[in-house]
Amino acid sequence: MMESDFRIVFLGTGGGRFVTMTQKRRTAGIRIMNEGLNLHLDPGPGALVHSIDQSLNPQLLNAILVSHCHPDHYTDAEILIEAMTQGMTRKKGILAAPKSVLEGSDVCDASISKYHQQMVEQRIEVAPGFRFPVHSINVSTTRAKHSDPGAVGFRFMTRFGDFAYTSDSEYYVDIAKYYQGVRLLALCVMRPSGKPWEGHMATDDAIRIVDAVRPEMAIMTHLGMSMLREGPEKEAKLIQGKTGVSTVAAVDGMIVLFGTSIRIHAGKQQNQNDLTSFL
Ligand SMILES: [Zn+2]
Ligand SMILES: [Zn+2]
Repeated sequence: MMESDFRIVFLGTGGGRFVTMTQKRRTAGIRIMNEGLNLHLDPGPGALVHSIDQSLNPQLLNAILVSHCHPDHYTDAEILIEAMTQGMTRKKGILAAPKSVLEGSDVCDASISKYHQQMVEQRIEVAPGFRFPVHSINVSTTRAKHSDPGAVGFRFMTRFGDFAYTSDSEYYVDIAKYYQGVRLLALCVMRPSGKPWEGHMATDDAIRIVDAVRPEMAIMTHLGMSMLREGPEKEAKLIQGKTGVSTVAAVDGMIVLFGTSIRIHAGKQQNQNDLTSFL
């Protein structure tokens, strides 16, 4: 039997305060699905609405991953936990996040209430270099250098090889070691080339990371306002031109099929399996 590809759905491709408050791009995060695995990564504002709009039943979720304590990454986590736990009637699923999100830190309060945290079957507090199983895959956490010092990225280890998500991070010297060998790298590139911002990623940082990691494909997401003004496609061409690595600027609703090959389906698509079980 053919093993089916992982589906990575970019429900939202916007990031940062101004894109979030204007919704010039959605901020709904990323859904990752494969044969029973149903994971939501960084459910920012709109995650619930756009999941339903794209026929991805949030009640089928079995894992929610939150990279750090900023609203464009966590705001819909509680309502997705409610969906995942059948309206808080059943302990179910995994919630994995750093301490800043689960308990708060010097820079933020807890992002998810205790009431919600106690309803998941497994609450996993992560730090860089942590590793845990989710359904049929293993996930490891990477270090992100960001204004939430607890921030992490995530690396997904599958039978087809690995893909990863940097979350918000600036470039730092050994960042590439966390992503060595990944086939697909999604980077939160908030800003265009020439507009660096401490703690965040601009195109020039992405070029250094992609060049050091050399994945089969790089995807830019979590695009900020100055990036949208500059033109993400143009910035993707710049990364590709400098590194020789195939680079795509994500658009809302884009689906990546990750299997023996990596294929992009632009735009909104519906998933028959999820539709049939949709209530
Ligand atoms: Zn962000
Ligand atoms: Zn952030």
